Parts: sequence; C-alpha cells; structure tokens
Amino acid sequence: MREMHRKYVFTGTLELTSGMHIGGGESNLRGTDSPVILTPEGDPFIPGSSFKGVFRSMIERIVAVIPNRNTCSLILGYDCPTTKQEDFNDRRRVSNWNETELARHLKRELCDTCQLFGSPFSASKIFFSDLYVEEWAEAIQRRDGVAIDRDSEKAVEGFKYDFEVISVGSTFKMQIVLENPSDTDLGLVCVGLNEFVSGMGGIGGMRSRGLGNFKITEMIGYELDLTTPQTLTDPQTDTNPLHRYLVGKTLEEKMTKVSDMDRFLKEHIGVLLTLVSGEENAQTTS
Ligand SMILES: [Zn+2]
Repeated sequence: MREMHRKYVFTGTLELTSGMHIGGGESNLRGTDSPVILTPEGDPFIPGSSFKGVFRSMIERIVAVIPNRNTCSLILGYDCPTTKQEDFNDRRRVSNWNETELARHLKRELCDTCQLFGSPFSASKIFFSDLYVEEWAEAIQRRDGVAIDRDSEKAVEGFKYDFEVISVGSTFKMQIVLENPSDTDLGLVCVGLNEFVSGMGGIGGMRSRGLGNFKITEMIGYELDLTTPQTLTDPQTDTNPLHRYLVGKTLEEKMTKVSDMDRFLKEHIGVLLTLVSGEENAQTTS
C-alpha cells in the first residue's frame, strides 16, 4: 500500500460531437447485429477501462515525440521492464534486489507511460470511473452498414448489417483520480486532458465512419498536497489540508479547487517540457 501524499481529481463533462458506438457484447435482445453497451437499467455509459485505453494511447502518441520522454509501446527499439519482463526478472533474481532496490530500478527503467498507467511490476497511479450518461435522446439510433470486402474494398453484394449508435450531443460525467504523481506524470495527464478539451478525443468502434468523437467541457481540477509537514496543533483549523480532507464530504470541502484550469494545464505541460531525463529523481521524493 502506498501512502497518499498528493492527489488530484479532474471532473468534467464528456460531450459527443458525433455518434458513438461502444460495443456491448453479443446480447442481441434488441434485434440488432451490433448492440451498444448499456447499464442494467438500459442507459448508455462509457466503461472507465475504455476511457483509460483512449487516454493512454493518446498520451503514448505524444510522448513519442517529446524529447527525453519514452514509451515502450511506440518507440521502436526502446525497451522497458514491461517489454523485457524475463530479462528484468532474471536480473532481479541474480542480484537479489530487496524492495528498495527493486523500486529504484523500476523508477529508473520503466518508461514514462508504464510509470503512470501501471505495468506488470507497478500499480497504476491514475484511475478512471465509469462515465454515466447525463443527457441523451433517451433513444438508441440504429444505422445500416454495408459489409466491405477487405481485399477488393467493394461492398459485398446482399450483405447488410445494422449497428446501434448513441446520438451526437449526448453527455457523460467524467472523473479521473491521480495519486502521488511525479512532475512527469502530472504533465502527461495535463497533455491528455488538454487534447480532450480541444476536441481531439475519440472513443469506441467504427471510428473510420466518423463515430466516437468527443470533447471535454466544464473541466474542474481539485488538488490535495500533504507533502508539507502538517501542523496539527490546532486540528479545528480550516486551513489544515489533512483535517479538511478527513472531515470533508464533497470534493469542494475535501480538496482545493484549481482556480484557473487553463493556466494549470499550461503550467504543468511547461514543466514536462523543461524536465530533462534523470533530473526529476533528484527533485521528487516518494
Ligand atoms: Zn513501458
């Protein structure tokens, strides 16, 4: 278990700027070839795991072009313990690393996206809630598709199918929690959030048909910093962040609201671009 030192929560509204299709398995009670995923109550939602996947691949694509930042999934020839698990486990066994040594090796060798999103060796620092619908047309659209032959790229005669779509304009409630991020982690998350705010997001299937586009609006950030020594001499004081966190019920009560989200994103992306590899290990303690 990791202690909690720093925590961020980002909330917002995910608004579909096109229709969306997130497949809902094989259940075919509605008589469609390709149903969308729904809650047991019949409302559309976006699984947190799908949203995490989209967020991660968006960040990986950008990390690949940032100097001194690495992602093992996209940079050819760049290996991290995730891509060389056997090799890493051999070294660990041969040198008989204790927990502290293991942690040091992971911090130095895991790529930036494995550090943030988790790896076979380390837990994720970022958590995505399922996104439940706020506003929608209360009806699922059905569209017809034509099967395309992969080789000839021509429509297959007489083979039509239909698929369900959640309509453009539907909105979903987003919540992302980030725990104990390094400056790099926080910078990367801000890069991803900024892309989504700019309407660069895409989720679900049939993307080549123009489905699954979205943007994040009304984003609010909350922060909690327990890294400075807590003065518990007056536990009643409202300015003690630990006290506020423990007795608060809402995010507003528990944490400090980011006053200017735009500036927050710019600042932390700026820090990310100025960090040079290795520098951070000396700066942050955890
Ligand atoms: Zn990696």
